Amino acid sequence: MKQKRYLLTEQELPTAWYNIQADMPVKPLPLIHPTTHEPLSVDDLAQIFPRECCVQELDTQHAWIPIPDAVADKYRYYRSTPLVRAYALEEALHTPAHIYFKNESVNPLGSHKVNSALAQCYYAKEEGTTNVTTETGAGQWGAALSYAATVFGLEAAVYQVKVSMRQKPYRSSIMRTFGAAVTGSPSMSTRAGKDIITRDAHHPGSLATAISEAVELAQTTPGCKYTLGSVLNHVALHQTVIGLEAEKQMALAGEYPDVVVACFGGGSNFGGLAFPFMRHNILEGRTTEYIAAEPASCPKLTRGQFRYDFGDEAGYTPLLPMYTLGHTFKPANIHAGGLRYHGAGVIVSQLLKDGLMHGVDIPQLKSFEAALLFARTEGIIPAPESSHAIAAVADIARQCRQTGEEKVILFTLSGHGLLDMTAYEQYLNGDLIDYTLSDEEIALTLK
Ligand SMILES: *Cc1c(COP(=O)(O)O)cnc(C)c1O
Repeated sequence: MKQKRYLLTEQELPTAWYNIQADMPVKPLPLIHPTTHEPLSVDDLAQIFPRECCVQELDTQHAWIPIPDAVADKYRYYRSTPLVRAYALEEALHTPAHIYFKNESVNPLGSHKVNSALAQCYYAKEEGTTNVTTETGAGQWGAALSYAATVFGLEAAVYQVKVSMRQKPYRSSIMRTFGAAVTGSPSMSTRAGKDIITRDAHHPGSLATAISEAVELAQTTPGCKYTLGSVLNHVALHQTVIGLEAEKQMALAGEYPDVVVACFGGGSNFGGLAFPFMRHNILEGRTTEYIAAEPASCPKLTRGQFRYDFGDEAGYTPLLPMYTLGHTFKPANIHAGGLRYHGAGVIVSQLLKDGLMHGVDIPQLKSFEAALLFARTEGIIPAPESSHAIAAVADIARQCRQTGEEKVILFTLSGHGLLDMTAYEQYLNGDLIDYTLSDEEIALTLK
């Protein structure tokens, strides 16, 4: 009988995260202070983030960062996650390709986000912080952070993008169940929120508005640190447990990926899966291809510009060297809330610039079509975000059908979609649409 799922024992779990910055052929450009315009130091960053996260953020020397015991202990509640050979999907696609997915949807929070939430809350607690704050879009990060805060005895305040809050009401209930205080963003509770609402009373909110509010709260509240669910280097670092496990599990399956695919919001689940494999491209000349699947309505990788930009709408964050659509870009209200972000992480942006990976754009309807195919073959309802990766994989698998190539494809199922059934319902009722962006619209926010 053919083996379908591969798991690791607790003894086989990774004991260190992989920091690709140490091995990158071209190191990322420095982060720049928003007012002094000097390169940022750990001390600058540590004013809002837990210090150890800042050290990791700027570390371009150490390839391996030990996972603290307390974090590793919490990982063992749900890791390893299964590596699954998607035989039924392959069959439905009539493809000679071998398709594997790393199933990050099986933890109780339902997405990969908890891998970094646990690390960030642990470091915050260690340095004596009492409160953490953050932003969340669809709510997966907020849910993960709320849980991790409880685990390490911290209070959590979460700003949730207003439109996502309406689309996914149960995610706020989950956050509140774990004890977090949840506010819709933009809100009247911060200076940044008030400014945004004054300019645009019906602003639907975006990750950029919610980040402004959370950063402001951290800056103005003693004992409060800000945490981020993606984009930053240390977040992608924590997510490398995904790829490090997958590497061992692929070996158990006797295969090595020709193509690695993940959906792309800020780059953390993509980097988490891709970086551990990419190190073999960089150090040993492997030729694996890396594909980031972004929504066609938020195409920073394929249609954005590489330049310094703010991470938030108000311009409180450091200036980041990244592919961006401009920090005032207002993404369409697609259901993949986790992919509605204007910029790409600094490491990923440099890797894209250097040709080590590339992006593909997936329209919303195509992502749902792929989601249904996956649900009906593999029995898992994917998160709307993850469906972008599935759609990209299906495209490659169909190409293999044309060419007869037996490519080995590996992707991350970054989360399940069981709390996204309103989105599925709208799709099934024919009420969802694609959003197309003109070059003029993109040029406007890049001005
Ligand atoms: C947040 C999220 C994403 C996108 O974030 P990345 O940092 O790009 O990984 C993708 N899938 C799910 C399920 C998410 O919750």
